[in-house]
Amino acid sequence: MLIFRQLIDQPSSTYTYLLGDSESGECILIDPVFEQANRDRALVSEIGLRLVATVDTHVHADHITGAWLLKQTLGSEIVLSRDSGADGGDRYVSQGDEISFGNRTLLVRSTPGHTDGCITLVIDDNSMAFTGDCLLIRGSGRTDFQQGSPDLMYESVRREIFSLPDTCLLYPGHDYRGLTASSVAEEKAFNPRLGGDIDLHDFSGYMKNLKLPHPKQIDRAVPANLKCGRPDTFDAQDTAPGWANLKYTFSGIWEIEAPSLEEVLPMVQVVDVREPSEYDGSLGRIKGSKLIPLDELMQRAGELDSNLPVVTVCRSGARSAQAVAHLTKAGFKKIANLSGGMLRWRDGGHSVEGGQD
Ligand code: FE
Repeated sequence: MLIFRQLIDQPSSTYTYLLGDSESGECILIDPVFEQANRDRALVSEIGLRLVATVDTHVHADHITGAWLLKQTLGSEIVLSRDSGADGGDRYVSQGDEISFGNRTLLVRSTPGHTDGCITLVIDDNSMAFTGDCLLIRGSGRTDFQQGSPDLMYESVRREIFSLPDTCLLYPGHDYRGLTASSVAEEKAFNPRLGGDIDLHDFSGYMKNLKLPHPKQIDRAVPANLKCGRPDTFDAQDTAPGWANLKYTFSGIWEIEAPSLEEVLPMVQVVDVREPSEYDGSLGRIKGSKLIPLDELMQRAGELDSNLPVVTVCRSGARSAQAVAHLTKAGFKKIANLSGGMLRWRDGGHSVEGGQD
């Protein structure tokens, strides 16, 4: 079975796509974003896949690719176009090349026009195509910077995208209105720049008069993406807190497993957000923990030292996850949820104060 997820980076309206093969457990990411590497890693791990490659559809001007960062932690191969001009890739592809994950493959179609190195990726059964910043939903990528060319883009769309089956679903690199997918038939009929009877002259007239502002991130993003997202200086702590062995979850919070909490227990503030009757009840509590029931947490956050790490605890890990969200909003930076709560803490044989066997 094909596993498919469409993810968004809100600040840049960039779509990242996860494609996985359930039989082999292998997956790839198309156009990952640097700042979303923790999210992407969490998703891959939670659905039990192994990231074999990241593929960039082009050298982006509006965000930095997560390719290099994901390779550092997951060992994924960096794939991009031979015409991208980027250094640091593991594999450079061109027209007709295949990118495999398990038993599935993406076929590379060269679709220059937004940049010289733009590629569209088509899944083996022609049911989906990932068009990057070439064809967008009822729009197209820009052709007014990098190696932009309306002529090349017009030709790319007609030759490589509109030639796909009408039913083929199209997934763009961006959408600024939150639209998620289209199809070849729809874009052929309704794309206001490239569909219907529009000819090259119409298209290039349209594109030359867009008068869009210069991309905000271009001076930062292009140089970084020409190195596949490798920063000039990198501190692992920029992406993972260093105060304990934590795991980021796809739900968006940092968690700590019971054995890791045991290791750092003397250095952290443990906040138990259960009700007083539970704190004194049969599950017992972690020695040294401070009781602040969840509904009092926001008023009493000042009782905690925001410079020291905080670990939140409850019965199962659910209410304490909400406590992490509350305290993060209140400005706490070093904060994690005890995964599985008191139930898992006890199951692991960690010491408990009070309670019953
Ligand atoms: Fe782009």
